[in-house]
Amino acid sequence: MNIHEYQAKQLFKDYQIPVPEGKQVTKPEQAELVARALGGEGWVVKAQVHAGGRGKVGGVKLANSLREVKEFSANLLGQWLVTQQTGAEGLPINSLLIEKIYPIKRELYLSLVVDRSSQRLMFIASAAGGMDIETVAHDTPERIISVPIHPAAGLQGYQCRKVGFALGLKGGQLRELEKLMGGLYQLFLAKDASQIEINPLIETDSGELLALDAKINFDDNALALHPDIAALQDPEQEDPKENEAQQFGLNYITLSGNIGCMVNGAGLAMATMDLVKLKGGFPANFLDVGGGTTVEKVSEAFKLILSDPEVKAVLVNIFGGIVQCDVIAQGILAAVEQVHVTVPVVVRLEGTHAEQGRELLAKSGVNIVAADDLEHAAEQVVALAKGR
Ligand code: GDP
Ligand code: MN
Repeated sequence: MNIHEYQAKQLFKDYQIPVPEGKQVTKPEQAELVARALGGEGWVVKAQVHAGGRGKVGGVKLANSLREVKEFSANLLGQWLVTQQTGAEGLPINSLLIEKIYPIKRELYLSLVVDRSSQRLMFIASAAGGMDIETVAHDTPERIISVPIHPAAGLQGYQCRKVGFALGLKGGQLRELEKLMGGLYQLFLAKDASQIEINPLIETDSGELLALDAKINFDDNALALHPDIAALQDPEQEDPKENEAQQFGLNYITLSGNIGCMVNGAGLAMATMDLVKLKGGFPANFLDVGGGTTVEKVSEAFKLILSDPEVKAVLVNIFGGIVQCDVIAQGILAAVEQVHVTVPVVVRLEGTHAEQGRELLAKSGVNIVAADDLEHAAEQVVALAKGR
């Protein structure tokens, strides 16, 4: 799960990680009042959306007067922000973060991630902050250092100094960084984060370190342990289809193709998408209806797939182990009864109660293409999606 920058910065504060002074607002008048209360000569107006790359597309504005704070806020609020990291439709700007401007001497990069190959938490740092870390990694990999943390030993002082030297920090700054990295490490573990990124971490003119940006991702599987974090969820920043799927306990991810896929089991779903691509098609979604599913769940899943206007054909691929094929068939028929299905549907049922499932579909008179092997099913659905 993702949270907003202003929420991430509050968590930073709780863990003694220095952040700019600021406040989240939802109205232009409120923005002006907050700026006035913060004082100073300049303010930053930052669009709060669940995506980075805001600076490049006008989602981060530097205001030199209270009038500008109000003006920029009025322009941003209610708009949709499209960045490199959002889809084409963008994300709604429902709130802003108003902060004091800090004079930047240098922009640095610091993150804490799960490194799968070493199976450890790993700090990643670079003196080349403020830009795409992916670009830095690609063009000048020598400018990035990574420091894996041993799970039993925890974060060590020498590791913080190593990062500090790589970032070109000196004297008291090294102690500041050690505190900051310690806070990040504690926060990561305490809240079951999956990634924390500060880009940029700045060195101010007076040499202080400050997290100017803050992105935190959390492990969805641990959210039940952290009601305080779960409460920070903002459904308006998420795909409405994925939200709906979540309510029905379905694993659903929107993709950009035109072939809807309904499959049981994540592995089979991946294999099905591979096969669709191999046959020249593009999946519109990943959907795992899970084991021990019900007629209601299958019917909701099917409706969800059909609600995507991009979908030109649907492939249902079920291998009945725990899940019974006749339950799947009933689910499909229940959905067909409620929504008008205009796209071709290819169904491949195999395993427990496959016969009964196929019979139900055949008897129903619904226009469904029955396929008996997966490769053939993929070929058929790709051809149908292409209008053949
Ligand atoms: P992102 O583009 O979504 O990652 O948003 P950031 O929060 O990283 O802001 C983008 C850029 O805006 C930063 O890299 C800074 O150059 C600039 N910026 C943000 N806050 C301040 C500030 O307080 N002072 C100054 N001078 N620049 C800022
Ligand atoms: Mn940033």
